[in-house]
Amino acid sequence: MSGLALVQLENGLANNAFQSAFQSSSEGLLITEQGRIAAANVAFVHLLGYERECDVVGQSLQDILPHSRSCAHLLGQGSQQACSNPVCECYVKRADGREVRVEATCNRFQSEGRELVFLRLRAAATDGDRRFRTIFDASAIGIAQCSLNGRLLDCNAALQRMLGYTGEELRGMDFRQFTHAEDFTAERKMLDEMMAGRRESYGFDRRYIRKDGSPAWGRLTVSVVRDVMGTPAFVIAMVEDITECKLTEQQLLAAQKMEAIGRLAGGVAHDFNNLLTGILLYCDLLHAGLPEGSPLRRHVEEVRMAGEHGAALTQQLLSIARKQIAQPRPLDLNEIVVSMSNMLKRLIGEHIELTNQLEPGLPPVMLDAAQFRQIVLNLVLNARDAMPQGGHIVLQTQNTPGLDPIRGGEVSLLVSDGGCGMDAATRSRLFEPFFSTKPEGKGTGLGLTTVYRIVKDNRGEIEVNSEPGCGTQVRVRFPGLPAQPATQPGVASGQRCILLVDDDAAVRDSACTVLSNAGFRVLQADSGEHAIELFSHHLGAIDLLLVDLLMPAMNGLEVARQLRLREPGLQVVYISGFDGVHATAAGPDLIRKPFNAAALVKRVTEMLQTLPPLKSEGSSLC
Ligand code: ADP
Ligand code: MG
Repeated sequence: MSGLALVQLENGLANNAFQSAFQSSSEGLLITEQGRIAAANVAFVHLLGYERECDVVGQSLQDILPHSRSCAHLLGQGSQQACSNPVCECYVKRADGREVRVEATCNRFQSEGRELVFLRLRAAATDGDRRFRTIFDASAIGIAQCSLNGRLLDCNAALQRMLGYTGEELRGMDFRQFTHAEDFTAERKMLDEMMAGRRESYGFDRRYIRKDGSPAWGRLTVSVVRDVMGTPAFVIAMVEDITECKLTEQQLLAAQKMEAIGRLAGGVAHDFNNLLTGILLYCDLLHAGLPEGSPLRRHVEEVRMAGEHGAALTQQLLSIARKQIAQPRPLDLNEIVVSMSNMLKRLIGEHIELTNQLEPGLPPVMLDAAQFRQIVLNLVLNARDAMPQGGHIVLQTQNTPGLDPIRGGEVSLLVSDGGCGMDAATRSRLFEPFFSTKPEGKGTGLGLTTVYRIVKDNRGEIEVNSEPGCGTQVRVRFPGLPAQPATQPGVASGQRCILLVDDDAAVRDSACTVLSNAGFRVLQADSGEHAIELFSHHLGAIDLLLVDLLMPAMNGLEVARQLRLREPGLQVVYISGFDGVHATAAGPDLIRKPFNAAALVKRVTEMLQTLPPLKSEGSSLC
């Protein structure tokens, strides 16, 4: 009977493909008719612990399904409708008498007028399997089972959360699809070594691409699982989401870089500023000493330009290291833009046109002039670099009156170019220290970092509009001040006496000459001790102490303190390079190195103007 049924059924199969599929399935498959097994595949035969199909075909289902623990439908006791459970759990009795729990799915169907039932059985998950699945799903670390060719077979919720895909989307995906391109080669190499048996596992920190395109960092450990013959069967990957850690690490690295630059800048700035101050002051003296129309004047101007460029670079580094001493005062932005025009034109070259569109009557802005020059310089240089073939840069100032007339509105500077523009990736990293798309030696990646810091330190805002091929507009905005009458510095008085103290001979000599040429009397000292000695000899004759803040034995603050013990009303101007602590203590009474002749005379004159009319005809000259 059973053999006949099987033969009949084989003949009824549509083709050999169905027969092969039926036989090779890893699930136990069988077809029953009137409660007897009419056909069974190898997996079912093995599940029951028999050797051959003919051992089970023909058997009654009731013989292998214990009554008390089976679905009525399977036993042919249910209604004619198929079982409503998609999957039933029941037990089958094996050849050795042991009962094994299985998951069963049954479908009834008709063929050539006969009622048949198609059954699929597989060993049910054990408690151990369930416990494992629960741990797998609840793990905070992402876990994936992958085929040997890199396709995901299964993954847990943590991995789905990390990558932003659902489990269904991930299943079947190639791991390359969410691997950052730059990490793929490294991973492929390690995977190949593992497959070749040269290593059992590997691990490294790598980047993933989430479904929304954003990057994520994962700490990955991959190991291969082998079958009893030692042949690789599948791969298990564990991924810890370390995106937050990486971001913090990057911020720390950036902070350390800044710290290193700060130290470096601080270390050289003091000496560098002294040199530049000497160069700039002597340039002014040389220039003044040359007859009008002398061709040598141009050479001196070149030297001065180079010196000023060096000074701007030092300030740039100091500003990034936050060691620059800002001296905000009410500024007319138009005035500064105009004063820079010639220098900017020379810097950008003849192939680029520079146009100023300056709104007249701008309210003043509280800013450090040197810092505002740095903003203009950096934005214009970037615009220049974006147009190697030439083009047009526009510098525009605008006043946007505020709603409240007392608080003033906003003053903005807009720098526009028609250059190469920027893509989203560049725009997102613009203000990052050391981010540059320019070739080595061309870009430092510090320009916009400086601009951003200055703008933020002065309660301003910065906006960048740019698209590839469509040029760039950078707008910086600052709060405007209510208009003020401009302060007129007074004319230098020849009757005043200045005690100049600086340990650097070049600064001292050049400053002394400039001040003397401006009509002041100057006493020079190369140390605090020397200054105190001179002060004692010229008691009552000195109107102003001009003293370097940072000197080896006695610093400028200490010199001033000691002299003020003798003459409490003594006016003091500190000369400062960068030293943050002392400069803060000195307050606003300082002049920053490097300075030029006009700035020095102006600062000294301003201080002396606050004094009552002359008190002495002092006797000493430098
Ligand atoms: P650097 O000029 O030294 O590269 P910056 O901080 O000034 O550093 O600028 C960073 C990057 O921003 C530049 O390398 C460039 O890619 C981009 N960038 C800045 N300004 C412009 C601009 N006007 N047009 C196109 N790209 C710009
Ligand atoms: Mg730049």
